[in-house]
Amino acid sequence: MMKHIPRRRFGQNFLVDSGIIGAIISAIDPRPDDTVVEIGPGLGAITEPLLSRLAHLHVVEIDRDLIARLKQRHSPARLTIHEGDALAFDFSGIGKDLRLVGNLPYNISTPLLFHLAEYVDVVRDMHFMLQKEVVERMVAVPGDGDFGRLSVMLQYRFHLEWLIDVPPDSFDPPPKVQSAVVRLIPRDTAELTAKNVTRFAQVVQTAFAQRRKMLRNTLKGVLDDAGFAALGISPTLRPEDLAVEDYVRIANYLEP
Ligand code: SAM
Repeated sequence: MMKHIPRRRFGQNFLVDSGIIGAIISAIDPRPDDTVVEIGPGLGAITEPLLSRLAHLHVVEIDRDLIARLKQRHSPARLTIHEGDALAFDFSGIGKDLRLVGNLPYNISTPLLFHLAEYVDVVRDMHFMLQKEVVERMVAVPGDGDFGRLSVMLQYRFHLEWLIDVPPDSFDPPPKVQSAVVRLIPRDTAELTAKNVTRFAQVVQTAFAQRRKMLRNTLKGVLDDAGFAALGISPTLRPEDLAVEDYVRIANYLEP
């Protein structure tokens, strides 16, 4: 088969380090009957070892050349190929209790994470390789410089766990950045619930739109001084100073 020329526009950096691949598979610990969905199987670095442990695997891939290769190698009885853009893919159509995995295309990682977070109700867990800098933003805690909208929106729905650091030379071609593997497990909804998730998302987006400003300014027109006082939140704080729970409390205060 002809060598595949990696496509930059699809964020193609293929994993070639067998030690890292083994560590990822061990972290996922797939069981034969699990419903696993791999995003961006590429040349199959993770796909093959997953298939050797699973009865069946779903993949979502955008690159037609890579899809043709996958079709040649695997029967539809073992591998279901969903051709298209993971950003627009309806994961709930596959089923429930999904285990999402992937060495994600870094050029779309943030919007993809927001899209995937929408499927929390049908997900058992997720294991993703991402730029280290994105994983740092995902797991950041209040007060950290990189605690932001991504941290709040993901931590609202998931417990996050940093698993493995991965250097550039584990890939072909090597990316310019360091990478890391992270695990996301849905939180128990009783733990932390916004009455209206859309309102919660709006409050978080508004607060972080100007992250250097005080909340009194960023949330002007959303929360007045009486609101800050009722919630016991100082209006002179900045968005990165509030905990996820505080954003939920603000959103719930604004809901009738
Ligand atoms: N899993 C392979 C590996 O680890 O070697 C490939 C990982 S590569 C970083 C990202 C993969 O995602 C590529 O196969 C690429 O074609 C695919 N991809 C890029 N953008 C995509 C999109 N919007 N939807 C689905 N797949 C996409």
